[in-house]
Amino acid sequence: MSGFPPTLFAGKRFAVVGLGANGLPAANALRAMGATVEAWDDSETGRAAAGDHVLRDFREGPLNFDAMVLSPGIPHRLPKPHPIAARAIAMGLPIVSDAELLFQAVRAAGSRARFVGITGTNGKSTTTALLAHVLNQAGYNAEAGGNLGPAALSLPFLPDNGIYVLEMSSYMLERLRTIRFDAAAMLNLSADHIDRHGDMDGYALAKRSVFDRQTRADLAVIGIEDAGSRAMAAWLDTMPARTIRVAGDAAADVWCQEGILRDAAGPILRMAETAALPGAHNAQNAAACFAIASFLGLDREAIARGIASYPGLPHRQEKVATIDGVTFINDSKATNADSAERALMCHDRLIWIAGGMGKEGGIVPLAPYFPRIAHALLIGRDAPIFAATLREHGVSFDSVETLDAAVPAAFAAAKRTHTPVVLLSPATASWDQFKSYEHRGVRFGELARALANGGAA
Ligand code: ADP
Repeated sequence: MSGFPPTLFAGKRFAVVGLGANGLPAANALRAMGATVEAWDDSETGRAAAGDHVLRDFREGPLNFDAMVLSPGIPHRLPKPHPIAARAIAMGLPIVSDAELLFQAVRAAGSRARFVGITGTNGKSTTTALLAHVLNQAGYNAEAGGNLGPAALSLPFLPDNGIYVLEMSSYMLERLRTIRFDAAAMLNLSADHIDRHGDMDGYALAKRSVFDRQTRADLAVIGIEDAGSRAMAAWLDTMPARTIRVAGDAAADVWCQEGILRDAAGPILRMAETAALPGAHNAQNAAACFAIASFLGLDREAIARGIASYPGLPHRQEKVATIDGVTFINDSKATNADSAERALMCHDRLIWIAGGMGKEGGIVPLAPYFPRIAHALLIGRDAPIFAATLREHGVSFDSVETLDAAVPAAFAAAKRTHTPVVLLSPATASWDQFKSYEHRGVRFGELARALANGGAA
């Protein structure tokens, strides 16, 4: 982090727990702002990453800090509070996310830079990156970060004219205290991360807090294409912020109809002009982006130009290779059935690679798309569960255990069945076989490209 006064947090004391992609930059930034920081990670590798931060085992001894920064992956409520979080709560020590501290730092440094918060089960990263791209293309001083990285506290100081666009996961949203988003968006709600929020209501409540503290001067953007979001839209109507409803495939304030993004004033752009935003789900993301960018002062043409030139994010329906007429699409980011559905929808006929650590319900909700699948390759822990679903619906498939085996098998199946697309859209978390969905997607790309030279990756 750069540009913040080095004495901004002088005299403040922070405990940082979890020294990963979030915790370490937080510890560094807080110290660079003059705070006293003590850090901990349960794992030895985490502690080894601490560099010259003071390590302290917070599982014992007093916790005399102003706040505790807990990595988003560490629960403080459900399914069970981490023992350190439980101690913090018992002692009344506030648990805050790095986004909250970024906001406090920006305001303490005297900047009125605006904050945009984007949440939802799916589409957060895309909408965050898209909006930042649109703003920057139009000459605004915008920085994107949060859940998609860089971590909030790695972002530079922005002056009054700056705009922070933050992707907010439900875990981060549970740890806010004072941050007020000038514009906030909640895109959609589907079953995911329920273990961390107790039930769907708990999850919706966490998501809803992106709108906390908003005033009449602020903007609330809400998707309306699922029941949970529609309930939230009705609630927003009772709140002071101006509400704009957005949809990819339904009438709303900003919506997409016959491939054209529009609002009450007329057409905005043809979605076909944006190669990196296929499908109705991406039209929803573009609609949210349009609503926020307009609110922030951009004109329609500038927004349309920005959306059209959006380059896309890796691992989200990313074309990684075309070999002998077969296009390989990396959608490793599809970690639940809902987002895999978005990708399946975009292709009339495909070879599908799926499997890993599935979510509740597995791939059962994807059955309407099964007729599009010429052949499937199943990998990972839950392959047997997915296999049972496919068998029940008469879908041709092979269980091949690993991605390394799946990619060449998918290529062979594509050629055999004259299918133009191999799609990795696993509908699962990756941790049974990979470090992350990024790791899984990168490996897919390597394996696909290697097919061009005979298959060694
Ligand atoms: P997030 O950051 O919320 O996980 P991403 O933008 O990374 O979302 O998209 C993840 C996956 O979710 C994409 O690969 C796509 O399949 C699906 N997706 C993206 N936007 C939406 C949306 N608005 N509604 C439903 N699914 C979406």
